[in-house]
Amino acid sequence: MKKDIEEIIRNLGKISKSIGDKNVLVTGGAGFLGSWICEVLVEQGAKVTCLDNLASGLESNISSMRDKGNFKFIEHDITQPIFFDVPIDVVMHLASRASPFEFEKYPIQILKANTLGIWVALGIAKEHGARFLYTSTSEIYGDANEIPTTEEYRGNVNPIGPRSCYDEAKRCGESYVIAYKNQHGLDTRIARIFNTYGPRMRAEGVYGRVIPRFVEQALGNNPITIFGEGTQTRSFCYVTDQVEGLLKLAFSEGAKGEVVNIGSTKEITILSLAKLINELTNSSSKMEFHPLPKDDPQRRNPDISKAKKLLGWGPKVELEVGLMRTIERF
Ligand code: UDP
Repeated sequence: MKKDIEEIIRNLGKISKSIGDKNVLVTGGAGFLGSWICEVLVEQGAKVTCLDNLASGLESNISSMRDKGNFKFIEHDITQPIFFDVPIDVVMHLASRASPFEFEKYPIQILKANTLGIWVALGIAKEHGARFLYTSTSEIYGDANEIPTTEEYRGNVNPIGPRSCYDEAKRCGESYVIAYKNQHGLDTRIARIFNTYGPRMRAEGVYGRVIPRFVEQALGNNPITIFGEGTQTRSFCYVTDQVEGLLKLAFSEGAKGEVVNIGSTKEITILSLAKLINELTNSSSKMEFHPLPKDDPQRRNPDISKAKKLLGWGPKVELEVGLMRTIERF
């Protein structure tokens, strides 16, 4: 992990220097992406306040930072008001459950994190005159029929389907951000995150996403659970690339007000992904086919030309390399 953090800092280039003197509030800071972000910020000398209600985040994700003088953890649900008497320069709002199994079990909490929660987080940014970064998602595009998908695409979302709590909440979250930008002149940035994977992503129960699930199944020589025929596609971005993109968007002077896709352009079917993970783990697992969940998007692949032009960002870690780094951590 230390090498991964160093790699992110190297790739941030001159942006990394503008991080050190900042006071940063990270909501969802004990989650998968939040904890990686906190680690880079802390390493660069920023004063980091990490807020998390530990609903899907884990204390173990932030344990290495707990004794650092420039890191503070507050267990708090961002849907409830909270006030700070210390300066805050940047608010990064990452708090939200994000796994499709959680959409079924906790739809109300997901809606609240991205509506009431973003309202509280934006209020903090307004009060402190802070910059605001929102982690939105490729899910705002729904089952996209424009592939690769650009930031201009308006989406194909089922407002009453099983994924609606996430898709519509994130769309509403974006609307909040734009409202605070327009009405109060806040410096805002919206990242639309496409599928990301790597160490700390959870495999178990309702938290499980496809890559950690397949890796754990393959390592245990258990059946690999393919939903549908596995012809649906995703484009998987390794966590170091994703975190670099998010930090470049948050800390670049020229990105004020922008909405940017951050993800990998390498599209792969879920069946090919399963076979690749089987190979990389030398597993004897068999493929086991299960019904495809309703509204599971058929294809997902971003157009990232805006991120390239605006931030000089593009993914660097090949899928096989990122998968091997993830497998080692399991
Ligand atoms: N998937 C699968 N088997 C699993 C878990 C997921 O085939 O055990 C599929 C899922 O139906 C989807 C893709 O893998 O098409 C990615 O699922 P994930 O939960 O990672 O997130 P999503 O991209 O759907 O938000």
